[in-house]
Amino acid sequence: MSVLDGRAMAAAMRDDLKSEVAALRAQGVVPGIAVVVLGDDPASRAYVRGIERASAAVDAACTVHRLPDDATQEILEQTLDALSADPAVHGIILQTPLPAGINGTRAGGHIVVDKDIDGINPLSAGRLMLNLPSFAPATAAAVLEILRRAQIPLRGKHAVVIGRSAIVGKPAALLLLREDATVTICHSRTVDLPAVARTADVLVVAIGRARFAGADFVKPGATVIDVGINEVDGNMVGDVDYDAVAPIAGAITPVPGGVGPLTNVMLLRNTVAAARAAAGA
Ligand code: NDP
Repeated sequence: MSVLDGRAMAAAMRDDLKSEVAALRAQGVVPGIAVVVLGDDPASRAYVRGIERASAAVDAACTVHRLPDDATQEILEQTLDALSADPAVHGIILQTPLPAGINGTRAGGHIVVDKDIDGINPLSAGRLMLNLPSFAPATAAAVLEILRRAQIPLRGKHAVVIGRSAIVGKPAALLLLREDATVTICHSRTVDLPAVARTADVLVVAIGRARFAGADFVKPGATVIDVGINEVDGNMVGDVDYDAVAPIAGAITPVPGGVGPLTNVMLLRNTVAAARAAAGA
């Protein structure tokens, strides 16, 4: 069994990105990421700090735009429109959770697709489905990046994705399909979920329930990607019961240290790609 080390993969990607940022800076282009935050959610504060640190680590610029939590939909959309038009900004993130009354999907439509580094504009989602160039949601892209870096074969393999959210499950399934996997998407109404999961060569679990997928979900030798982030007794645990599954799996991502560390790096990679495209480099 091999442990798929997301931290090591993220570090390697950061090194590559740092060189790319240096090359762009030498041409007078500073890749810039803008994070738009509404209100003051503690979990989102930690996440934003993570993006700031990750940007600093590769010498990209990061600006945080904090709007009061009573900011209206119109003000949010005007902010996103202005950042979409700002040539110093190459990537835009709209931080979630959003306050009640804000329509995130509608707001996402105000992030121009060229800067939509977390793939939340419905146009980006449509382009992903049509195999047109677009940025996929960062977590789904991180899942595929881990599989690619670990050289896990996907063509003709059966991939089972548990979870069908717009930001993780569905885009991960589309990206696996793009790699010629045969893909099954499961959700809360799937009948006999363990039996379906056991047919997977590659099992992606993204449901938000601590240690939900146990040994009965995993075919011996399968690759298991655990996207889940849950807190249990002050510890971060995944959606997979790691101790039960690790002896059976061929390869598995730990939590923490698997998908999570790659997510921010994917946002930066997308920002650098957007900056390169904007510069015509
Ligand atoms: P959502 O709550 O949006 O979606 C959860 C999905 O899981 C739904 O499709 C739901 O099905 C399905 N589900 C829930 N319970 C069950 C069940 N008992 N059996 C089968 N399917 C079930 O969550 P997200 O996709 O946003 O996040 C999933 C997990 O990934 C969370 O733990 C989250 O914290 C984590 N996450 C991690 C990130 C990272 O960077 N590592 C980033 C984003 C999320 P249905 O549609 O039928 O309701």
